[in-house]
Amino acid sequence: MIEKPKLYITRKVPEKILEPFQQDFTISMWKYEEEPVPREVLLKEISDAHGVLCMLSETMDQEIFNTGSSLQVVANLAVGYDNIDLHAAREAGVVVTNTPGVLTESTADLAFSLLLSTARRIVEANQYIKEDKWKQWSPYLLAGMDVHNKTIGIVGMGRIGEAIARRAQGFGMEILYHNRSRKVESEKQIGATYVDFDTLLNKADLVVSVVPATPQTNQMFNKEAFQKMKRSSIFINISRGSVVNENALVEALEMGEISAAGLDVFAEEPIRSDHPLLDKTNVICLPHIGSASTETRSSMLQLCLENISGVIHGTGPITEVK
Ligand code: NAP
Repeated sequence: MIEKPKLYITRKVPEKILEPFQQDFTISMWKYEEEPVPREVLLKEISDAHGVLCMLSETMDQEIFNTGSSLQVVANLAVGYDNIDLHAAREAGVVVTNTPGVLTESTADLAFSLLLSTARRIVEANQYIKEDKWKQWSPYLLAGMDVHNKTIGIVGMGRIGEAIARRAQGFGMEILYHNRSRKVESEKQIGATYVDFDTLLNKADLVVSVVPATPQTNQMFNKEAFQKMKRSSIFINISRGSVVNENALVEALEMGEISAAGLDVFAEEPIRSDHPLLDKTNVICLPHIGSASTETRSSMLQLCLENISGVIHGTGPITEVK
């Protein structure tokens, strides 16, 4: 009897999603949903796996690709793939796939929720009432900043950046964006204006980071960048923590160089509980939940499984990282 290829999944995922793939693969997975697989278990499992479905919590490096001698494909449950050493994967002849597109709208929803919540002090207001501090109404009680008719500056006008811009259109916002290249079509459709990075920092009331983590974007939001922003501005980061110098962000908040921040991603995840960003009332921190709706996470898992199946059965992946 011909043995089925082995597929290893680095977290516990719903059996229902795996059902259509069970007859083609021997599927095993890590036993917990909320805890990442220990490195030594991953190395053992990968040694005879043909495909791996991994999370951004796994560092897929040279050692992994050297250990996986039968490995043909690594499917990352994320659009970002900064956790994967692409060079090592290529050397080992392993195809890497990600999940672009299926998470775009959910991530833009989260970005906009974070933007609104930060500007209108929603978390602080919720805390205020729960701590029984609401004794009377007053004119400027928990007054925040308007979002409608303000200027949004989107750094990284890709799939998610554009989806955020469409939401901003509905709020009557002026839309500025910065990329390495201009997107003339989007400018026409969304009414966005291309500006250089410094002009965006200078003019935007809300600066939103949606760039991928790359050597070029590493710490692009540094001391100088925060100093160029308006003192009344709000900084939102839903891309990756590495794009921000967190010490500079803390300092900018403490010096009043910017007014608030909404963050879904951090330099180190999970963020340590004594991190100075966590004790600031003008900062909202989320545990990297940009694409975390039930529907979208299921679509992402489905796409990963189809990518693995495509590579192993020779029909090709749908969304290969090139
Ligand atoms: P995308 O379509 O590839 O868009 C990325 C954009 O960033 C592109 O328009 C690109 O334009 C621009 N860019 C790249 N390098 C740049 C640089 N050095 N300076 C300025 N702009 C630069 O990707 P996406 O699907 O929108 O996703 C974007 C990122 O969001 C992902 O890489 C991921 O890290 C993050 N993300 C986070 C979550 C979450 O849970 N928080 C969820 C999904 C995605 P040019 O090439 O023209 O520069």
